[in-house]
Amino acid sequence: MLNFELYNPVDLVFGKGQIAKLSKLIPQNAKVLLAYGGGSIFKNGIHSQVTEALKGYEITEFGGIEPNPRYETLMKAVELIREKKLDFILAVGGGSVIDGVKFISAAVNFEGNPVDILVKRIRIEDNAVPFGTVLTLPATGSEMNSGAVVTIEKTQEKLSFGGPAVFPQFSICDPTVIASLPKRQLQNGVIDAYTHVMEQYLTYPHDALLQDRIAESILQTLIEIGPDVAENPTNYKLASNFMWCCTMALNGLIQKGVPTDWATHMIGHELTALYEIDHARTLAIIGPNLYRVMFDTKKDKLAQYGRRVWGITTTDIEEAATQAIEKTVQFFHTMGMETKISNYTPDYEKTADFIVKRFEERGWKGLGERQNVTPEKVKAIVEMSY
Ligand code: NAP
Ligand code: FE
Repeated sequence: MLNFELYNPVDLVFGKGQIAKLSKLIPQNAKVLLAYGGGSIFKNGIHSQVTEALKGYEITEFGGIEPNPRYETLMKAVELIREKKLDFILAVGGGSVIDGVKFISAAVNFEGNPVDILVKRIRIEDNAVPFGTVLTLPATGSEMNSGAVVTIEKTQEKLSFGGPAVFPQFSICDPTVIASLPKRQLQNGVIDAYTHVMEQYLTYPHDALLQDRIAESILQTLIEIGPDVAENPTNYKLASNFMWCCTMALNGLIQKGVPTDWATHMIGHELTALYEIDHARTLAIIGPNLYRVMFDTKKDKLAQYGRRVWGITTTDIEEAATQAIEKTVQFFHTMGMETKISNYTPDYEKTADFIVKRFEERGWKGLGERQNVTPEKVKAIVEMSY
């Protein structure tokens, strides 16, 4: 097992009716920025639940944080906080609102140009404005981690940053909030969480036995409940297990002591930046082709995954690994995912060259657990995804 340090200060408050606890979690004298997205929280009653729980607080609202939050929009919230001297942020939304709030939190007191947080990927160690979250969309794990992804509209770049100062102080995870989610977003949530596990698990065999078993059990639970939760989000058993799987998939636990990949996310982010394909759907396009192109170095772990998660019985490693990829693609299709770029845009033919150029400009010579996802491999993966 690799050495590791486990630090996660998030007070995770999970279950029905927990939004009412907000006033116990936010300091009484706080001047709060309530940040949200495009307005779903007004239609499903979450906004009323939040404001009811926050009676007596001084609240300033900031809406309009987009899916795949934009730097340009977030900077308006930064100005508002500075101007009104607000000292706490409450993110009410999915990964986009929570990630957006992480950026706002980091940018308010940042010395220098906040765009550098993204462009230079500055690690945020201190001086962030404290914030909490009310999660409305299980998927990203952002409610219990310290990473975020923000898009710069001007340059069409989707960039990640993070650091210990941008952990939420608390996150309220009430599984009943998923009742109003469109099927497409429920499907996205399952596949984003699934791929988060794969990025931390599907590398090469190692001796971190417990981490593998936890990762496999999250994958198995998502396979078990994924298709049903997309159809029946009001079923509490399905909703609560779905929500907990998504948090567990990316709260840092399963990545401790193991190598991690993340190349699927890095390539997927480019597809969202270029074509606005939903985050999870980019992962469904890229993941299986990455396993195919990187087959030689991933086949041993793919075979383990195939046997333990999918019950594949062949003793031949290459055959088990190949079947495991096919099972994964079938599952993605069952979850309503398209697995080709051409399903989303007619304009795909220069995608690989464009992405490779960007990675080269950023000096990314090799991604993945062995840093062997070279620009040539990225090109092959993306071209295989046309
Ligand atoms: P999202 O972009 O936050 O939300 C997608 C859509 O769902 C929005 O239109 C939103 O509407 C709607 N929605 C949210 N909750 C709803 C509810 N309860 N009922 C009805 N509609 C609801 O989706 P997401 O998948 O959670 O986040 C994706 C972003 O997170 C991407 O930018 C991705 O790159 C990033 N990400 C972050 C991490 C991380 O660790 N930080 C990991 C993976 C991905 P409104 O805007 O109207 O609310
Ligand atoms: Fe993700």
